[in-house]
Amino acid sequence: MNILYDERVDGVLPRVDKTRLIASLHEALPGLLVLHEGEDLKPYECDGLSAYSTTPMAVVLPDTVEQVQTIMRLCHAQNVPVVARGAGTGLSGGALPLEQGILLVMARFNKILELDPDARRARVQPGVRNLAISQAASPYGLYYAPDPSSQIACSIGGNVAENAGGVHCLKYGLTVHNILKVDIVTIEGERLTLGSEALDSPGFDLLALFTGSEGLLGVVVEVTVKLLPKPQTAKVVMASFDNIEKAGRAVGDIIAAGIIPGGLEMMDNLSIRAAEDFIHAGYPVDAEAILLCELDGVESDVHADCDRVRQVLEKAGATEIRLARDEAERQRFWAGRKNAFPAVGRISPDYYCMDGTIPRRALPGVLRGIEELSRQYSLRVANVFHAGDGNMHPLILFDANQPGELERAEELGAKILDLCVEVGGSITGEHGVGREKINSMCTQFKPDELTMFHAVKKAFDEKGLLNPGKNVPTLHRCAEFGGMHVHHGKLPFPELERF
Ligand SMILES: Cc1cc2nc3c(=O)[nH]c(=O)nc-3n(C[C@H](O)[C@H](O)[C@H](O)COP(=O)(O)OP(=O)(O)OC[C@H]3O[C@@H](n4cnc5c(N)ncnc54)[C@H](O)[C@@H]3O)c2cc1C
Repeated sequence: MNILYDERVDGVLPRVDKTRLIASLHEALPGLLVLHEGEDLKPYECDGLSAYSTTPMAVVLPDTVEQVQTIMRLCHAQNVPVVARGAGTGLSGGALPLEQGILLVMARFNKILELDPDARRARVQPGVRNLAISQAASPYGLYYAPDPSSQIACSIGGNVAENAGGVHCLKYGLTVHNILKVDIVTIEGERLTLGSEALDSPGFDLLALFTGSEGLLGVVVEVTVKLLPKPQTAKVVMASFDNIEKAGRAVGDIIAAGIIPGGLEMMDNLSIRAAEDFIHAGYPVDAEAILLCELDGVESDVHADCDRVRQVLEKAGATEIRLARDEAERQRFWAGRKNAFPAVGRISPDYYCMDGTIPRRALPGVLRGIEELSRQYSLRVANVFHAGDGNMHPLILFDANQPGELERAEELGAKILDLCVEVGGSITGEHGVGREKINSMCTQFKPDELTMFHAVKKAFDEKGLLNPGKNVPTLHRCAEFGGMHVHHGKLPFPELERF
């Protein structure tokens, strides 16, 4: 599928004079790397959601903030839409380029500018990889907590734009909780600092507002992150279940017992088998579901928590409970989980990764609902997700070469998100709305709420040039879609209606 994304439902973006734009970029910034022809543009046609792709009009790769400012000023003056891109690992089409716009690639901003172990913070450029921050902090016994499974590749700028999460966010928070300050360049070319090195600052909390704004409000050019001391010890308990709903209930039981694990993840049988075939993590391939529960902190607390978790899991009906014997086994257990997406990619020609969040108590019912939908649509669904914070990642397996399968997968995905909203959850937990879930926003938000989002957007970007057509749908689009804050009839699962 190739979606030409220049057309917004409520109007068409102005045509851009490409020749004029390229000439003015060359004239204003002679050293700037500008790609605007044929094969050069191919690698930038999509992000991690490869079902959507568009050839950008031009790709620019600046390496100084001044260059970004000049590019933005030019684009503003010539009404050229701008899509920022970090590492392109996004899973919701957020960095999908425009046929009539430039793709501003921030990959060359890859330096750690300052690492202050005493203040426990680091000042980094936006193109720095998430994992590279923890690697640089490691000699000081520190690390950067949010750890998306894509951390080896994704950039901190992209993490800020998506408010990225990861395995350890249940205990340590999302990106927004782990940054102090970001510097942005606005579409008018102004450099602004949002947040500060103090824990709180007067005025509106623009840092929180900006985090997760998916490139719609400005371009991140610098990030100051918090660093945490590495826990003295960490242990992982793996529990097997013969029934996925029991595993879902056990998640709530652990939290209800007053334990906040460093990570609490669930995998169903399909993803267990795929990950085991790929990584040989030592997973029980006959289990219907496993929970991986990490406990970290000081030795004595971790020891006591492991015992308590074991008791809770036994009571919840776990068929087998194993504590990773040593650090190597702990790493193997996590490697299986962190590689579960590519592992599922090996057992199906294509897969579509959903990202809904639900209240923990709704887990068993929603898992049952997904199973039922999977049967209805005759498409396999693998569940592997951040169970502790209710952030689900159903992976819908399909074959894009089979006529109609992609459309069926998309429809099934939308139904799963409806289910999440229905039980009081949200259409995204960490992958963002991007292009992919823009229609689902019409289901989750009322017109008045969307109007408020548009007012915020206008305050930063009056002309609507930054990443148009992503994240926040126009009211017109919602009316066309026909899904304006309506629930899609009665749920097929009456037991969920009490949530
Ligand atoms: C295998 C796999 C596993 C993943 N696991 C997780 C996970 O556990 N948790 C999670 O949260 N995500 C996960 N993701 C999704 C993705 O890695 C994150 O959303 C990540 O934050 C994207 O970073 P990026 O640098 O690749 O951004 P991109 O994909 O390049 O861009 C993402 C969005 O950010 C905007 N953007 C990028 N850079 C800037 C900037 N400098 N200024 C302003 N806007 C910018 C773009 O316009 C776009 O809207 C996973 C992806 C894959 C492929």
